[in-house]
Amino acid sequence: MAEASLPEAGRLSFASLGSGSKGNATLVSDGETRLLIDCGFTMREAERRLAALGLHPGQLDAILVTHEHGDHIGGVGPLARRHDIPVYLTPGTWRADRLGRVPRHHWITPQARFVIKGLEIEPVTVPHDAREPVQFCLSGAGRRLGVLTDLGHPSAHVVEAFRGCDALILECNHDRRLLAEGPYPPRLKRRVGGDWGHLANVQAARLLQGLGLDRLQRIICSHLSEHNNRPELALEALVPLLDGDDSRLMVAAQDEGLGWQTIA
Ligand SMILES: [Zn+2]
Ligand SMILES: [Zn+2]
Repeated sequence: MAEASLPEAGRLSFASLGSGSKGNATLVSDGETRLLIDCGFTMREAERRLAALGLHPGQLDAILVTHEHGDHIGGVGPLARRHDIPVYLTPGTWRADRLGRVPRHHWITPQARFVIKGLEIEPVTVPHDAREPVQFCLSGAGRRLGVLTDLGHPSAHVVEAFRGCDALILECNHDRRLLAEGPYPPRLKRRVGGDWGHLANVQAARLLQGLGLDRLQRIICSHLSEHNNRPELALEALVPLLDGDDSRLMVAAQDEGLGWQTIA
């Protein structure tokens, strides 16, 4: 994992503890506010990965949960209980009953903005096979970050909601050919590749095209499938949209995550 240099005050920054089907967690900070989005790692592993990014769990202001799949919620309950961190989630995600008791929880209403210290959070409904899944646009320090994984297709609603971001964490789950020819059983292939599953590289490219690229300083390819994708295939799908210039593209890996990125 990258160096532990902490995010600058007065700037919007983000980092990934790791991304993929074995666990996801994203940090967002304006230097004062520190939010964790999801935690699919065990508590010990999350503590280790946070430390590598220069943070102790006790410094987190909140954990936002996108949905109840294990790669997003697995470590949330233990981390929240041990370090007394409030958890924000939709009632549907709560009712999936994957969290256990937490010290404090707050409801998220999709499409209704809310504020935690210096950050404004806009939860956006996404097409995914969970009870009430959302993804997030976060604004702070005059900049806007989109966190967008776990969606089966780029719905018109999603494209509308994620316009105007300065940086985007974007699902590039699978390459369609690798998924079709890969080891998954047919049922799982249909789920992953279906409209309520995960975004293929080509769909991520189409989504980006719909959003417009002018403002985007950074695009982070995320939630790559270990079996059905490769970083170079995800990058290959997106580079043509950037006139062949890949300097704005990065990959959040399962093991290494991604070190702090500050939006200029
Ligand atoms: Zn996931
Ligand atoms: Zn999911």
